[in-house]
Amino acid sequence: MKAIFWRSFCACRRVGRASATGLAMVFILGGVPAGSAVAAESRVKVTTTVTMVTDLVRQVGGDRVEVQGLMGPGVDPHLYKATAADVTKLQQADVIFYSGLLLEGKLQDVLTRFARSKRFVYPVTESIPLEKLLEPPEFSGHYDPHVWFEVPLWTLCVDTVVKGLSEFDPAGKAYFEQRGTEYKAHLLELHKWALEKAGELPPEKRILATSHDAFNYFGRTYGFKVVGLQGISTVSEASVADLVNMVEFIRKNRVKAVFVESSVPHKTIERVSQDAGVKIGGELFSDATGTPGMMENGYDLGTYEGMIRHNLNTVVNALK
Ligand code: ZN
Repeated sequence: MKAIFWRSFCACRRVGRASATGLAMVFILGGVPAGSAVAAESRVKVTTTVTMVTDLVRQVGGDRVEVQGLMGPGVDPHLYKATAADVTKLQQADVIFYSGLLLEGKLQDVLTRFARSKRFVYPVTESIPLEKLLEPPEFSGHYDPHVWFEVPLWTLCVDTVVKGLSEFDPAGKAYFEQRGTEYKAHLLELHKWALEKAGELPPEKRILATSHDAFNYFGRTYGFKVVGLQGISTVSEASVADLVNMVEFIRKNRVKAVFVESSVPHKTIERVSQDAGVKIGGELFSDATGTPGMMENGYDLGTYEGMIRHNLNTVVNALK
């Protein structure tokens, strides 16, 4: 609901694409995936930014990689600034993966610097064709970075990870390709489940009111009208007018619940909930997954899959 103005724009997509050119020839030794028993010291050292990307690289990289993410659960990537320790982790990495499309807004300068000095730096979203991206009017000139909520789009990002890992570690190419293919099939099942889950709500009940506009892709794919209080980024705070408009919208449309987000302070949505007289339907994971190892209904909230399942279950159950 709020206009966002970015002071600087860095073409992060081009950074990733440029870094992929001029690479050494890749030789594939046989077509059989290399064994998973890779000594710890010879694993590919990968540094990632947000938890969704960390999980994606772990799923594709398996035992051949050692991944450390800069941001943990509950961290807001729009506001996150690199610490000295982060710069060291980026320096030590063989390969760097980040989400891109300016999601990591305040980290972009650092990532761009590394992309100039290192060969293996990739925004995972570079494998999504531009025509599939949303360009919301309030984010004029930029693409909406929250692509992971449209599962088929996130599935395309598997290709960047397979490519990036294979470019650094050609001997593992078949292994990464096989894991990538398997993970894509898994994500296709997840997407089918999500469509069915959303289908439990009649279309008029599919209204998702949250803190910031992280769910436009989610809305497009799973048929929800999405109302965010703070706009695409969390850089600017919601105004009183934004709050009043949202309360009015909720009353008019008889929305049953609003939702807080794990990586955004809850205060303003709590205010909306009070003023509109509706319940808080639960906490959604927006720009970060939950804590790895924390289980809910059989899925791990620290994974991308867990994030998607938790969000859909929470939203559908609260709005029924
Ligand atoms: Zn966001």
